[in-house]
Amino acid sequence: MRLIYSIKKMYEFSKTAHLKGKTIGFVPTMGYLHEGHLSLIRKARKENDLVVVSIFVNPIQFGPKEDFKRYPRDLKRDMKMAEEVGADLIFYPDAKDMYPDGFKTYVNVEELSDKLCGKFRPGHFKGVATVVAKLFNIVSPDIAYFGQKDAQQAIIIKRMVKDLNIPIKIKVLPIVREKDGLAMSSRNTYLNGKEREDALVLYQALNLAKDLIKRGITDTDKIIKRMRQLIKKKKNTKIDYIEIVEMDNLNPLKVISDNCLIALAVWIGKTRLIDNMIINKLGS
Ligand code: AMP
Repeated sequence: MRLIYSIKKMYEFSKTAHLKGKTIGFVPTMGYLHEGHLSLIRKARKENDLVVVSIFVNPIQFGPKEDFKRYPRDLKRDMKMAEEVGADLIFYPDAKDMYPDGFKTYVNVEELSDKLCGKFRPGHFKGVATVVAKLFNIVSPDIAYFGQKDAQQAIIIKRMVKDLNIPIKIKVLPIVREKDGLAMSSRNTYLNGKEREDALVLYQALNLAKDLIKRGITDTDKIIKRMRQLIKKKKNTKIDYIEIVEMDNLNPLKVISDNCLIALAVWIGKTRLIDNMIINKLGS
């Protein structure tokens, strides 16, 4: 497996691959890989001639008081894991090369970026859309793979690709969870034993919503209230939001409809976790 730091070398690799008629599958990540990331790499492996994984803790998507500095990093470990599931190349750019002095151009996907997590992390999705657009230009993949774990991110990237006529297919794969249901996340490493137990409440709240919907409750205020009550039983939690929204436009729903997204962000101690569930047919 190759490791490329240089943007120029990355361009050259992709150009040569395309000239040879090879397809490139791309998995953008911030590293500290886990099974969620690996599920994307495995899928990319199945569907493409070459698989590129980027590892870049993108400074411009973190707020000034967020965890950019302490975000877990371990390139050696990541390389081993990515290679084991068939990645051909890790692209590991330097922040100074991605954002040199004089950098002035940002991608802002309007409205979608201001909802859900956007309300609590101003500028976050502008940072995400900008880095993904840059990575798409540098890596030039045929297909890019994202996780449903970051549902809003996936919706924003799909919108960006459509709006800017970027010729890349976006695939969104299901959330990979720990055995007990906690959605895998690099940030789970921040949790201590008690917090790890409390963190389960996100998935429990989503399942409670699913059960209520199955039992015929369609008033979203009622469902959200019950989810809040459940989460508040854990003393060490703070809810940023719990919302039930339409997929694609992320507008809040008053009444449950087919294909809606239940999304939440909850602090467990000093760690902010997100999770979500898509309700396809009522209650399934
Ligand atoms: P990150 O490194 O957290 O920026 O994530 C990189 C990619 O992996 C994003 O597309 C995420 O949505 C995806 N991802 C992260 N966690 C999971 C998970 N538990 N299941 C599926 N995909 C995930």
